[in-house]
Amino acid sequence: MSIATGLPEDFKADDYDMLVVGAGYAGSVVARRFAESCGAKVCVLEMRDHIAGNAYDCYDEAGVLIHQYGPHIYHTFNSRVNSFLSRFTEFTDYEHRVLADVHGTLMPVPFNHASLKLAFGEERGEELYQKLVATFGENKKVPIMQLREKNDPDLQEVADYVYENIFLYYTMKQWGQTPDEIDPSITGRVPVFVGDDDRYFPQAPYQGMPAEGYTSMFERMLDHDLIDVFVEVDARQILSVEGNHVVVQGKPYGGEVVYTGPLDELFQCDAGALPYRSLDMRFETLAMDRFQPVGTVNYTTSEDFTRITEFKNMTGQELEGVTTIMREYPLAYDREAGMDAYYPIIEPENQELYQQYRDRVGMIANFHPAGRLAEYRYYDMDAVTASALDLSDEIIAAHA
Ligand code: FAD
Ligand code: UDP
Repeated sequence: MSIATGLPEDFKADDYDMLVVGAGYAGSVVARRFAESCGAKVCVLEMRDHIAGNAYDCYDEAGVLIHQYGPHIYHTFNSRVNSFLSRFTEFTDYEHRVLADVHGTLMPVPFNHASLKLAFGEERGEELYQKLVATFGENKKVPIMQLREKNDPDLQEVADYVYENIFLYYTMKQWGQTPDEIDPSITGRVPVFVGDDDRYFPQAPYQGMPAEGYTSMFERMLDHDLIDVFVEVDARQILSVEGNHVVVQGKPYGGEVVYTGPLDELFQCDAGALPYRSLDMRFETLAMDRFQPVGTVNYTTSEDFTRITEFKNMTGQELEGVTTIMREYPLAYDREAGMDAYYPIIEPENQELYQQYRDRVGMIANFHPAGRLAEYRYYDMDAVTASALDLSDEIIAAHA
């Protein structure tokens, strides 16, 4: 592999069997698999000055390993994903735990057995817990919007508490809308957990942190003789979609193209811009060993930011007398202001707009939109990897 900055003057896309736009999970997984399975030459173009997409991590000025684009915790039920990624890194045994600050009391999120007792007191908490167990069974996940539909007064009491104190204010900050107004799959990501597991990803068999960080994992994934990576290159300088062709350097391109950027940008947003939520991430380095008891504390009833992450608590990095924390302030996404598009806004109107763009590339057999931007999906890292493994299976089969 080589990583170069900018494209050389004599760059020829025709020298490659595949062009990959974006060096995040979607692009890097397909690049690696196509190169090693088909002996194909792959060119990866990345507009940022680094690989790894939003999973990028690096050392800050104080020497603390930080996640530049927000806290990333690897977790999956998918053994294929885990085996693939494990080729490029070992994972630590880190298990993410989150506490919600509810009017000054810290309680586990997802809301669980222990949270019930903290919220309602030992005795009443236990009574309510037994009711949840009798209704849903032990070690079950119950999305808040589902719990709210139950008619039982005890379950209503729990649902009201959790809705008001865990979801309402946090969701208003994050999305500018109430939990009732957003797609239920979003609050469903953090279901009430009827059990004692206090991990943020209860029951997930594989979870941890890449032992030397995400960026190192991507370096190894892209480290292949047949893969060339060019950073600080916006692919749109050389690539466009015209009719039913991908045009690269002025002529129809015959190789495969895996595009992981936003589809609307490929068409200058001519049918309208796809909306996103963004985040202002404010990092602060403090002269202390440890700031908070867990990796992330969610502020669910107070503050303008949603959560504070302390990176050392997640990475396990040992560094005395210094720590870096980060607060996330949600924002409406403004492309012109150079913000990052973090979260697609899952609403029927936006899905329809997305589909319009998708239809315009649907007939181009060698053009493959992939990943959270090009598919306009709220994807976790494991889900993007799974989908990229499937896409590479298809491409490899077509070249067999
Ligand atoms: P990206 O990582 O965004 O990669 C796409 C790349 O394409 C980018 O590097 C971009 O610069 C590049 N690109 C775009 N357009 C062009 C162009 N025209 N030319 C060249 N390059 C281009 N997932 C988890 O599993 N666990 C977590 O804890 C977690 N935490 C998260 C926290 C936050 C705040 C956010 C926003 C996301 C989190 N995720 C988490 C999700 C995770 O970031 C994504 O699943 C994953 O990074 C998506 O990979 P991707 O390749 O689809 O996209
Ligand atoms: N959420 C909430 N309170 C919490 C945690 C999550 O209201 O303490 C809601 C909020 O709407 C959020 C969604 O659940 O956007 C998904 O949370 P998750 O932690 O999965 O978000 P991400 O890590 O992807 O930002």
